[in-house]
Amino acid sequence: MTSQTFPLEPAPITGVAKITTTRHCWMQCRFCDFNHFTPVLFDTKITSCLPLADAESRLATMPTSIGLIKIRGGLSFREPFTYFRSLVRAVADGFNGPIQAFSPIEVNQWHRVEQRPVRELLAELKWAGATRLGPGGSEILVQSWRDRLSPYRIESAAWENLAQLGWETGLPPSAMILAGKWLSAADIKSHLRILAANSWHHIEVKVFRAVALQPELEPMHILALCRLVSETRETLNDTPIYVNEPPGGLSHDARILLTQAGADGFYTTLEAIEP
Ligand code: SF4
Repeated sequence: MTSQTFPLEPAPITGVAKITTTRHCWMQCRFCDFNHFTPVLFDTKITSCLPLADAESRLATMPTSIGLIKIRGGLSFREPFTYFRSLVRAVADGFNGPIQAFSPIEVNQWHRVEQRPVRELLAELKWAGATRLGPGGSEILVQSWRDRLSPYRIESAAWENLAQLGWETGLPPSAMILAGKWLSAADIKSHLRILAANSWHHIEVKVFRAVALQPELEPMHILALCRLVSETRETLNDTPIYVNEPPGGLSHDARILLTQAGADGFYTTLEAIEP
């Protein structure tokens, strides 16, 4: 009988600072806790995004162990693109590491609302200091899920095309797998097949947090999560896979199991800056 050696240490853990511009989003994806409707009627109040001065003062006291800054948020009509570009610039002024700023979903909104070319918007994000695009919008690339759970989004194929433009601009795109019990084996295969048809800087496995109103959207058991990571590894070959840890983090043992399954690293949030 041959014995197999399993890693006793997990893959590296990257400390993340997550900057959230707003926790409100008009897109109402059913799995997201930002899915508050942003009213656009004249007599209703639309909350502002994170003020730049607040972001700057919080960034000044950020822990030194931060290895990655992610900037994301719900979709708001209130602030122009220049606000988001200035936020990236403010972050880049005080941080030398990777800055994962916004995603094809936001870029598409600026493109439509401000009627500006996508390549131009990407180039300005890059100029401001972004180093890669986030995976927002790729939680669900099987169009039938998308129609059911986030029907107001651009279609999968449009999302993929927009994301891939990031390579041209020096903003490598990333994509995501939203891990939850609600995915059938066939759904997972289809999603991975779509991802495998393109190239990605990395894939993030996001451990799903159940939303009370959506009982069918439950988190995965750790062993099912390992199976998902392992299938992702087999399908996407050399693309790095990072597991986004849920609030409270994963246990040391869970990290070891996921490393064995094929995870290249873990993203754990050390700092959350939001309005
Ligand atoms: S677009 Fe993103 S932030 Fe908005 S509701 Fe959907 S998942 Fe949430």
